[in-house]
Amino acid sequence: MSIFSNALSQFRSAAQYLSLSPYVLGRLQRPERVLQFSFPVTMDSGTIRMFDGYRVQYSSARGPYKGGLRFHPQASLDEVKALAFLMMIKCAVVGIPLGGSKGGIAVDPKTLSPAELERLTRALTRQLAPFIGPEKDIPAPDVNTNPEVMGWVMDEYAQIVGHSVPGVVTGKPLSLGGSAGRSAATGQGGLYVLAELARKLKLNPKKTRVVVQGFGNVGYHFAKLAYGAGYRIVGLSDSKGGIYAPNGQSMDPAHVMEQKRARGLIAGCYCVGSVCDCKNYRALSNKQILAAPADVLVLAALENQLTGTNAGRVKARVVLEMANGPVTPEADVKLAKRGVIVVPDVLSNAGGVTVSYFELVQNLQQYYWTENEVLQKLKPIMVQAFAKVWQRAQELKVNLRTAALVVAAERLAQAIEARERS
Ligand code: NAD
Repeated sequence: MSIFSNALSQFRSAAQYLSLSPYVLGRLQRPERVLQFSFPVTMDSGTIRMFDGYRVQYSSARGPYKGGLRFHPQASLDEVKALAFLMMIKCAVVGIPLGGSKGGIAVDPKTLSPAELERLTRALTRQLAPFIGPEKDIPAPDVNTNPEVMGWVMDEYAQIVGHSVPGVVTGKPLSLGGSAGRSAATGQGGLYVLAELARKLKLNPKKTRVVVQGFGNVGYHFAKLAYGAGYRIVGLSDSKGGIYAPNGQSMDPAHVMEQKRARGLIAGCYCVGSVCDCKNYRALSNKQILAAPADVLVLAALENQLTGTNAGRVKARVVLEMANGPVTPEADVKLAKRGVIVVPDVLSNAGGVTVSYFELVQNLQQYYWTENEVLQKLKPIMVQAFAKVWQRAQELKVNLRTAALVVAAERLAQAIEARERS
């Protein structure tokens, strides 16, 4: 089954709880615009290579399109449509006035030199230029793209239109108008959501054991902030494996990151070959870390990590989706049957797009906020989004994913009807 069809079937199940008109239901199941590009890039060797890419502008019902740009060998139209749909839902769940979009180029950027990557990004920007802008569609970093890539998009766009337009992309370097607090925003937003859930479930952070899968931008910041808030971080992992504290003692993610930077791997830095240089932690494989004893399992790596095959082994009471789509629909059903609460990606990782929205606001008003101001504005948005989703879940007796889809569909339907009712 395609990823997009999966997303739509979950949406249709949620829509049963609402009396949406057939017209609104139909609109929300179709992207407004699908752009497909093929464009040439000159490689360092002098040869010319063609690249293929997509930008799906799913919905502008609640505001300009907003969504990341990913560079990945498996980028496909189906995946980009599904991710654009999820961006529409995410912006509506947190109530920010933006729509949903996503872009993908089929390329493995690790095979390109820095100069080739820059030429590719600039060529892509020339394709995108008529369709992007602060009032049209605002790209941002996603898998394998970063602030440096956004800086190139901003510069190429400025050359095309003849003046600087910082709000054409978010996730820019601070020196180009990026927002303070953007790099930690997704992790911070997830922690605000976890704190609200902990209050509902009466979990005491100091007694709550947390395992975090993924130690990149999202996983690292989440783990570091959760450790600072008193949660017991008992497991951490990256693509090469993980470490676990069997005695339940909390590990300091900043220290683990220092070790990782110095020696390369999370697991390897503690147990290189046969020499285990840490008395407190055990090295676990990626498969084992998902089933390690914990109260909260945070998925901050990739999509499809918990499936129908391994979901039955999860010991945590709560699964917090910080990555996009880490729990498959089959795993969702299995976890629900066992009473495991899954906090959906469209709620728990929405701190990232919320601070991207703040970046756009700062760019448009040419007035910049401190990190403290950014966090003060982020917290109430995440807390209110959680409260709304929790309330709908209780009222309708559904899980949090269905409730989040219901909240988003209600807001989208209101906007569509307010714009288009004749
Ligand atoms: P990243 O590339 O910085 O980090 C990914 C991490 O996952 C790395 O530490 C990598 O080693 C690890 N990893 C890969 N395979 C793994 C495996 N099998 N087991 C354990 N770890 C594994 O990416 P990121 O920006 O942290 O994004 C992570 C996820 O969060 C993605 O799904 C992304 O779409 C989503 N997301 C990111 C943001 C953001 O602000 N960066 C916002 C919303 C959603």
